Amino acid sequence: MAETVFAERFLEAMKKNGMKQVDLLKAAESAGIKLGKSQISQYVNGKAVPRENIAQFLAKTLQVEKDWLYGKNEKKDVKIEIEEKKGNSAMREFKKSTKLDNVLYDVRGPVVDEAARMEENGTHVLKLNIGNPAPFGFRTPDEVVYDMQRQITECEGYSASKGLFSARKAIMQYAQLKKIPNVSIDDIYTGNGVSELINLSMSALLDNGDEVLVPSPDYPLWTACVTLAGGKAVHYICDEQSEWYPDMNDIRKKITDKTKAIVIINPNNPTGALYPREILQQIVEIAREHQLIIFSDEIYDRLVMDGEEHISIASLAPDLFCVTFSGLSKSHMIAGFRIGWMVLSGNKNMARDYMEGINMLSNMRICSNVPAQSIVQTALGGYQSVQEYIVPGGRVYEQREYIYKALNDIPGITAVKPKAAFYIFPKIDVKKFNIVDDEKFALDLLRDKKILVVHGGGFNWEKPDHFRVVYLPRMEVLQEAVGKLGDFLSYYRQ
Ligand code: PLP
Repeated sequence: MAETVFAERFLEAMKKNGMKQVDLLKAAESAGIKLGKSQISQYVNGKAVPRENIAQFLAKTLQVEKDWLYGKNEKKDVKIEIEEKKGNSAMREFKKSTKLDNVLYDVRGPVVDEAARMEENGTHVLKLNIGNPAPFGFRTPDEVVYDMQRQITECEGYSASKGLFSARKAIMQYAQLKKIPNVSIDDIYTGNGVSELINLSMSALLDNGDEVLVPSPDYPLWTACVTLAGGKAVHYICDEQSEWYPDMNDIRKKITDKTKAIVIINPNNPTGALYPREILQQIVEIAREHQLIIFSDEIYDRLVMDGEEHISIASLAPDLFCVTFSGLSKSHMIAGFRIGWMVLSGNKNMARDYMEGINMLSNMRICSNVPAQSIVQTALGGYQSVQEYIVPGGRVYEQREYIYKALNDIPGITAVKPKAAFYIFPKIDVKKFNIVDDEKFALDLLRDKKILVVHGGGFNWEKPDHFRVVYLPRMEVLQEAVGKLGDFLSYYRQ
């Protein structure tokens, strides 16, 4: 396929020139060429080939022939006789690992770097980009803080690698409430946030070329960790027309003999979707048919609105091997304490060797942050202060009501109403605004209106027609932000 040939040659030429994607982006910017990060990653991943003018620019920058990049001739004619700098005077240069070449993590990417530069120069930036509750006035419940204080002197040493007994027992009981089957205390691993465990679980599983089904849009750490572990993240579509639920036909189409697992994010970041039982059952059926592991990221499971119930997919799949992830960063507003966990459940006979790999990696990192483990029992039991936020009159609920309506009132913007978490993923009418590059859209919005959002490409969404808004800021701030966005879109054209 033309895309595959292009990707191979493009990567080869980048390597010979010692250039990374970011260098090409910078070169394009200085040359006044419109080229976004998501476009480059599509070329690298063999999902698209560039138009003539872009290919010409890339060929020139990489000192190869355009036709060779397209695979039209075999002659490289590369003037890539890169100067071999030898001798004592040359400085040795350290480059980042090539393992990171295809890893994207734009939630904290170039647009955020620009925002940081603006802030350093004294500009106030309205941040709607990151799901970090504390800076928006969502405080840790007092009891959690008191209990950590009381136990801090007992947390000076390492804990068992998987975590303190009290923490794991509380997580196990929580798993029982969620009807997750066949979970013993040994099946629970605490981590420095869910993030560490996503990384660990992918590293322990994947060999080069193994495929994992990951949603698009996704929380990009999943794709990044699959890629870093040598695997291939194969994205299945979540369908905006159907409340952002996973598209079963698309999932089926993308399964190959290399597919080992499917990831679901429920409730979802960035869409705010909550999957009903029927959808989960359909995913289980597919996983059952193809003997896939189910990884379910449920970190927002207690931030569900409108009286809906969150169902753990593992509760529907006792015969499959499931790994369920959760933590206290969101529901208890203590993202900075860094505490999350994963629960292995269901048919463990399928995964004995994999579990050994998980244990090895868990032991290698010694243990997770012990003071944070010490408050898991307090946080999970008893009164759940988060409840107040997600009912009418509560901050998360009212802010969701506002942002949903206000965004839909802007001509050219439509958004599905989120049912959970604190994100909304609006669609932009790209024809109306002539938008071809969503990262540029986010950058222009930042420069013009000092508002920071993450473009859809940052969530492995291929079309340039979405962006994510975090609606954690207080109502007045959201009102100001939406006002400015509306004004921006009244004149913006790309
Ligand atoms: N999973 C999802 C879906 C998230 O949105 C986030 C953070 O935004 C994480 C995992 C990371 O959570 P933690 O703070 O536990 O590392």
